Amino acid sequence: MSFNIDKSILLFYNDLEDNTVERLTMPEMEKSVGSDFIREMIRKDIETNRFGGRVHTRFPPEPNGYLHIGHAKSIVLNFGIAEEFNGLCNLRFDDTNPEKEDIEYIEAIKEDVRWLGYDWGDRLFHASDYFDQLYEYAIQLIKKGKAYVDDLSPEELRQQRGTLTEPGVESPYRNRSVEENLDLFQRMRAGEFPEGSRTLRAKIDMKSPNLNMRDPVMYRIKYATHPHVGDKWCIYPMYDYAHCISDSIEGITHSICTLEFEDHRPLYDWFLDELGIYHPQQIEFARLNLSYTVMSKRKLLQLVKEGHVSGWDDPRMPTLSGLRRRGVPPEAIRNFCERIGVAKNDSVVDIALLEFCIREVLNKTAPRVMGVLDPLKVTLINYPEDQVETMECLNNPEDESMGTRLVPFCRELYIDRDDFREDPPPKYYRLAPGREVRLRYGYFIKCEEVVKNEKGEVVELRCTYDPNTRGGFAPDGRKVKATIHWVSARHALDAEARLYDRLFTVPNPLGEDEQGDFLKYLNPDSLKILTHCKVEPSLGEAKPGDRFQLEREGYFCLDSKDSHPGHIVLNRTVTLKDTWAKIEASLKEA
Ligand code: ATP
Ligand code: MG
Repeated sequence: MSFNIDKSILLFYNDLEDNTVERLTMPEMEKSVGSDFIREMIRKDIETNRFGGRVHTRFPPEPNGYLHIGHAKSIVLNFGIAEEFNGLCNLRFDDTNPEKEDIEYIEAIKEDVRWLGYDWGDRLFHASDYFDQLYEYAIQLIKKGKAYVDDLSPEELRQQRGTLTEPGVESPYRNRSVEENLDLFQRMRAGEFPEGSRTLRAKIDMKSPNLNMRDPVMYRIKYATHPHVGDKWCIYPMYDYAHCISDSIEGITHSICTLEFEDHRPLYDWFLDELGIYHPQQIEFARLNLSYTVMSKRKLLQLVKEGHVSGWDDPRMPTLSGLRRRGVPPEAIRNFCERIGVAKNDSVVDIALLEFCIREVLNKTAPRVMGVLDPLKVTLINYPEDQVETMECLNNPEDESMGTRLVPFCRELYIDRDDFREDPPPKYYRLAPGREVRLRYGYFIKCEEVVKNEKGEVVELRCTYDPNTRGGFAPDGRKVKATIHWVSARHALDAEARLYDRLFTVPNPLGEDEQGDFLKYLNPDSLKILTHCKVEPSLGEAKPGDRFQLEREGYFCLDSKDSHPGHIVLNRTVTLKDTWAKIEASLKEA
């Protein structure tokens, strides 16, 4: 696959970047939803009454890892199509490889699909539910002379398979009699032979230009306990054999899969035709690739195992559990998947589009609160010592129905250190010696004195406030150029903030050939932990997973694992606005 950022999406995003959020509805994109080539095909099948007008899809993960946002594309597509066409969508675990599979993954996958908002009803299936049937079908193929037991070792099989330019070599065991094959296959099942000593192979064509058709293995011997069916079997079907027949057994009408399965389709056709069983329509689409991350389960597993991240649900991971923990709303992922649509050619979607979709949902739904990530103390020297006021603050200026809350205000406050400069550069309009700014929902304050410690660091600002500016306006009409946020020092709660950034420093960490050493591009600054943050007291009521906008700082959620009463841990989901610089850089790379 060549690395090519989909420019239509990128430009589209760019056009909107400098507009207000309300206008970011992406009308052109939305039109494409409901009219892609897959839906066109399905519509035709309904019109012609193929499959009796039924639409039945499935999402078929292998339970060998956690789901990522690429899987979300497939989930949204399969469940979405079923919903749209009044059909059904199954969740099926293609669990043919017990050594790599685990109950932990099965449970996590179910949780993730539910979290995304989809319901498989009573249609949770496993390829392993069909192991008896698959075995019977294998016997049928043997009896038809279409399958044989091979004694070659895995290494020999590999050598004899040939290459794209050279045909394969027929196995010396290829022409065993049906009786001998039946006997050997039954004994394979009975556990008479050691692992790796024999396989059952389909008898197709060792000279086929399609390597998948060169007598592929259907069964191998594995003395492994299966997460779903335990120790019942010591032979396990290969994915390709089990997958197409499982779709057939379930009466799937449209087997939607990613492009790499195009070359497997002739094999699926062969199995179903030789068995003479129900035949779904396979449709391939391009998988989702996202810039600044990796998506292969093997690579994600490596990141976890080698400790580059804290686990599958590390908020920097592109996994659904990671995105959830980071505070991403499921609606944002669904919107993202619908917007990118489906196509027949591979492309890379800029992660900025995902971030945009996240902001769009959070802007509408996340209550605003005030919190200071890097606190700098402010004392209002003319504010009465014992006075405490409560300021009424809007929970969401985008949605007044979200109401207001009361935030305490007193003589000692914290502001963000970044909102003060001793020597303000040009165009810096926030607080500086002698300068006046507005406190959000508060008063105008003016910096009168800068207090430093013995190292010369600024430790406190002594300011005056203008009692006539409550509400943020001066009766004499004088203006200030900046509004900054604050918390009351006496009332604020301590918090830890985890600021996440992209996991990799380059858009395509795997390189052009997809084989590169991606670890060397790990972003050393992908996690910054700030332990001395101060947040407004209303956050004391928040529950793990709750999402907020810390005004002017970004969108955050309470970490679902580490945050508890008395110890607030905030994950930054996204910053408030992407900078032009980032977008421009990615345009240059494209
Ligand atoms: P593996 O390498 O283990 O096969 P996989 O990514 O194909 O990994 P599966 O569990 O087989 O994982 O995937 C389940 C479904 O999700 C399949 O139908 C697959 O085509 C689809 N899928 C996986 N990755 C993507 C992706 N990046 N974009 C779209 N669909 C995907
Ligand atoms: Mg797969």
